[in-house]
Amino acid sequence: MIIQLDSTISTPDKEAIISRIRSLEYKTTEVQTQRSAYIVAIGKRDFDIRQLGQLSGIADIHRVSDDYKLVSRKWKIGRTSVNLGDGVYIGDGSLAIMAGPCSIENEEQVQKTIDHLVKNGVRIMRGGVFKPRSSPYAFRGLGIDGLKMWHTLARKAGIKIISEVMQVSQIAEMHDYVDVFQVGARNTQNFNLLDELGKVDKAVMIKRGISGTIEELLYSAEYVFAAGNEKLILCERGIRTYERASRNTLDVNAIPILKEKTHLPVVADPSHGIGIREFVEPVALAAVMAGADGIIYETHQEPEKAASDGQQTLDFEESSRLIRRLQQASILLHEF
Ligand code: PEP
Ligand code: MN
Repeated sequence: MIIQLDSTISTPDKEAIISRIRSLEYKTTEVQTQRSAYIVAIGKRDFDIRQLGQLSGIADIHRVSDDYKLVSRKWKIGRTSVNLGDGVYIGDGSLAIMAGPCSIENEEQVQKTIDHLVKNGVRIMRGGVFKPRSSPYAFRGLGIDGLKMWHTLARKAGIKIISEVMQVSQIAEMHDYVDVFQVGARNTQNFNLLDELGKVDKAVMIKRGISGTIEELLYSAEYVFAAGNEKLILCERGIRTYERASRNTLDVNAIPILKEKTHLPVVADPSHGIGIREFVEPVALAAVMAGADGIIYETHQEPEKAASDGQQTLDFEESSRLIRRLQQASILLHEF
């Protein structure tokens, strides 16, 4: 059960509500986000919710049968749209496009990517400065200095930044230089990281774990929401299956399933989802047709020379074509 509180509720009124709920053998968790105050109540006993409705300070009460509560679509009217400022949204009904290199490498690469995005009307740039690499000897990113350099160039061009945060200690140093914190597939269930991201007033995109279920992804988002941050986006980025012909298997099924289960925006990452450059476009289009709110993919001026993930990275010509096709697909879908 989710009890939405009036924004002006007094402490005694709140305490009265909590003690009444506890007297019904429900466990309570108080949640205060940027948008609202809630009490999440977990329990089994059936009772008439009108008993609570009479208490003052309650804006709304919702019964939610799912085990995850705040991210469930069952209680919320409408969908969550994450506002990144300056007219940039994820989940507002338009298709959000986020593109950029796997890793931020140098100033020239960043500027060329920004110019490419601006030319194509893309407002959000992706890029890693802290890179999770399977091998400790691979390029691990430019770190915070790379992010600051990128931020300076991106701000001049009106471009928003999404970048991966790998550990709690990086949140504070990255905070002023990113618009969206990305939680990588290897960190989907790093609950300490999720808790801490719940304390910041900044959007968070959580990628699905490499072997994670849809439900586990929803619980990860529930952690961030319950800790106070409802500016959340989910990302299907491919899961590990028995198939070895592709790097991962983009689970297109997850897109409509997630959209049915949660009010949060759902985006897809076809680059990591298939891992093969020439097939990024068809898979991206499939994700749009399945209802994705956005696409995040990798592009580089010279993919062959990219510091990481070159094999799945589009050059700027391919990227321009993909952007056009994504926009066409999105229009087509709305005409259905
Ligand atoms: C990335 O986006 O470059 C990345 C490392 O993604 P994932 O966490 O999905 O592997
Ligand atoms: Mn990558």
